[in-house]
Amino acid sequence: MIAANCRVGIVGAGTSGVYLASLLQQQGFQVALFEKAPYPRTEGCGILLVQAGMAALQQGNPQICQAIIQAGAPVSRFEFRNLRGDLINAEPVSYAADELPGMLVHRKAILHALLDALSPECLHGNADLQSVTQTDSSVIAHFKDGRQWEGDLLVGADGILSQVRPAVVSDVQLCYLGDLVWRGIVEDQTFCPAGNFIVYVRGRGIYANFFDIGGGLTHWGFFVEQQQQEDEDSILRPQDPSIPAAELAKLPEDARAIIEATPPAQIVSRYSYDIDPLPRLQQGRIVLIGDAAHAKSPTRARGMTSGFEDALALSRHLTAGADVSTALAAFEAERLPIVHEYQRTSREMSRKIGRRHKQAA
Ligand SMILES: Cc1cc2nc3c(=O)[nH]c(=O)nc-3n(C[C@H](O)[C@H](O)[C@H](O)COP(=O)(O)OP(=O)(O)OC[C@H]3O[C@@H](n4cnc5c(N)ncnc54)[C@H](O)[C@@H]3O)c2cc1C
Repeated sequence: MIAANCRVGIVGAGTSGVYLASLLQQQGFQVALFEKAPYPRTEGCGILLVQAGMAALQQGNPQICQAIIQAGAPVSRFEFRNLRGDLINAEPVSYAADELPGMLVHRKAILHALLDALSPECLHGNADLQSVTQTDSSVIAHFKDGRQWEGDLLVGADGILSQVRPAVVSDVQLCYLGDLVWRGIVEDQTFCPAGNFIVYVRGRGIYANFFDIGGGLTHWGFFVEQQQQEDEDSILRPQDPSIPAAELAKLPEDARAIIEATPPAQIVSRYSYDIDPLPRLQQGRIVLIGDAAHAKSPTRARGMTSGFEDALALSRHLTAGADVSTALAAFEAERLPIVHEYQRTSREMSRKIGRRHKQAA
């Protein structure tokens, strides 16, 4: 059993890092959670948290799971429409009495539920990781402001542009998925009635979804197939964040009106990328979880879920393992086949629905 005085550093206070930090604190580990922003980002858009993600939260901390159920809307129906607005197919969703629902929920509510389960003294804001070094007996994180942290294990939960990842696998490239996406949240509870998830299937170079996230709010995502400018390679945000009016005009009027009613401050835009499956998740005293390990196309909505599953599995192996190295090997043996499968099927589905992936150079 790994000693309770084991010092674990986690880089990145997104959903994967905050959940892992809270689980390890519960088990008595000495946890330091480093975030480059002054405080974990609590804004964001709507999220479809599938049942596997809810189960990963329920197993680690039922209170987090309950808080998310209270805050959001259980998925009640998937509806597929064409660009004229005609219904192509509808799939009602129902749950047995003892079954956890898939949830449609504001990312803010998820973050708040996770942060409520965390003892805040472990959180270090304005800590922008620059590099990592390790020896047989310890690992050292070096931050841009000159600070250092030394401990027994370092976890990279620092997202798709991970600074920890090169210490585990070098030269990982982002693969552009061919879409620029705008997402927003607007006050409306009529367009997507309780728990509805509406998809406008891909056609004429666009794709869109709209879903209820509870609290009288609707989330939307509007995807436009678009080449990147030469100098935009591997950047997340486009130089021009405005939604092209000609593309928006391809949506039926009622759907377009929802997007047009959204205050500009509530709209974010970004290019979509994934990464190739990594050959390993750990090296020595360093391990990767969440998007840092397996960023994928949002097509199957497994991104946040797989980060929660990683956190739960890593916490379980560290708690039960004889030492850090045995625990990391067991974590990798369990998770690598699962996350590779998520990455493979997300990419496959993404190509099938017509995304034009560009392979990394
Ligand atoms: C358009 C789109 C829609 C999506 N929809 C869904 C969905 O419906 N359902 C779903 O499950 N998933 C969805 N996802 C995926 C999901 O958002 C991600 O998989 C998930 O948020 C990843 O969480 P993370 O904690 O691993 O990484 P992140 O959320 O990226 O967190 C990483 C953290 O690390 C910090 N950080 C980065 N670099 C450093 C550094 N050098 N030093 C210190 N800190 C650092 C960052 O500031 C950040 O706080 C979607 C993604 C996209 C792009």
